[in-house]
Amino acid sequence: MDFQLVYSQIFIQLLLGLVSVIFAELVRDVYHLAGHYWKPLQSYHTLHHKAYRRDLSMTSLEMYKKAQWYNDVPEALVMVGSTALVAGLAQNYGMWLGCLYSLMFLIPAIARSQGLLLQTDLTHKPGDLVEIPSRWTVNRTYHWRHHFDQGNAYFCGYFTVVDKVLGTSLSLKGKVVAITGASGTLGQALMEELSLQGAKIVALTTSKDAQFKPGIEVLQWQLGAEADLMTRLKSVDILIVNHGVNVYGDRSPEAIQKSYEINTFSALKLAELFLSTVTESDHKAIKELWINTSEAEVNPALSPLYELSKRTLGDLITLRRLDAPCIIRKLILGPFKSQLNPYGVMSARWVSWAIVALAKRDFRNIIVTINPISYIAFPIKEFFQSLYFRLFTSAHTQVK
Ligand SMILES: [Zn+2]
Ligand SMILES: [Zn+2]
Repeated sequence: MDFQLVYSQIFIQLLLGLVSVIFAELVRDVYHLAGHYWKPLQSYHTLHHKAYRRDLSMTSLEMYKKAQWYNDVPEALVMVGSTALVAGLAQNYGMWLGCLYSLMFLIPAIARSQGLLLQTDLTHKPGDLVEIPSRWTVNRTYHWRHHFDQGNAYFCGYFTVVDKVLGTSLSLKGKVVAITGASGTLGQALMEELSLQGAKIVALTTSKDAQFKPGIEVLQWQLGAEADLMTRLKSVDILIVNHGVNVYGDRSPEAIQKSYEINTFSALKLAELFLSTVTESDHKAIKELWINTSEAEVNPALSPLYELSKRTLGDLITLRRLDAPCIIRKLILGPFKSQLNPYGVMSARWVSWAIVALAKRDFRNIIVTINPISYIAFPIKEFFQSLYFRLFTSAHTQVK
């Protein structure tokens, strides 16, 4: 008996089994999308949305049972049918795994429609949200957003791939987005792009005579008086910390002071202020902090003090991310044309478009640059630094 052949056969069948499970989940997501966009299914899927209150408790057992019978049972039936069809056509026994997997959803759904096995509905477990939205698989907080943030986004049921492809991993519609450095080139372009996505913009600026388009809420703030923004930040959904200064070749003590004060500590103070506003269960799902740390985190910017101060900010954000109460995204941007950098090659408009497109696909590290090294160097740096920080620090206070 050729053992090698037997082993490779088992391996191939297992692999095909895994593919069929992923296929089953894709069918689930497509069925869900149809529930939102295809008329014949809409009224049945609406029952699912009507079955839950904001804390994911049932509106009534009757409604819940009805939703299971008219939405979850047919959804699982379609999964069972599609996977069986594919396995049958392929005449491959490994692929029946997907069908078996789908049956594991059909049986509990039927039971729940009869008022049994209610504890098995994991993504709809009632109670406060305790985690931030997960990245690759769907947790309660991720799915909560589909019910109570934006019904036409966050469609995925288990793997988050379909949302990433469709750009529905983050909905900006109706979100209140505050941005610092609003009068700068990138600030202006980002505000434009975010407005196109349906966001309500709050422009935070230190410049007295900056001009903004009508309809944009403008708030003046001052370096060192970040705390004055606290009241407004409470009702902001997404804060983008984007302000910065570039002293170029100046290496005077004043230039050092200024670079760190603006690029590092003022940014950090605002970030902490915003994170302290994440107080309610819903905030974990909706609030986000975006920090423009720039490509200087891993590459020279031909301006040492800009690099040093931005790198410190980036490192501290990596540290803070370990205990993030909400999603924190880093913007790792290459040189774009602006007042700070007249030699930039990318346009701020294009960079903004890319930032938003990647955020909508749930990139937590948004890298937009023409320098290929950053796409490799940054993730490696972030991974190992984060690991190092995790190993040698603790969230509990030790310093008294
Ligand atoms: Zn649901
Ligand atoms: Zn839905």
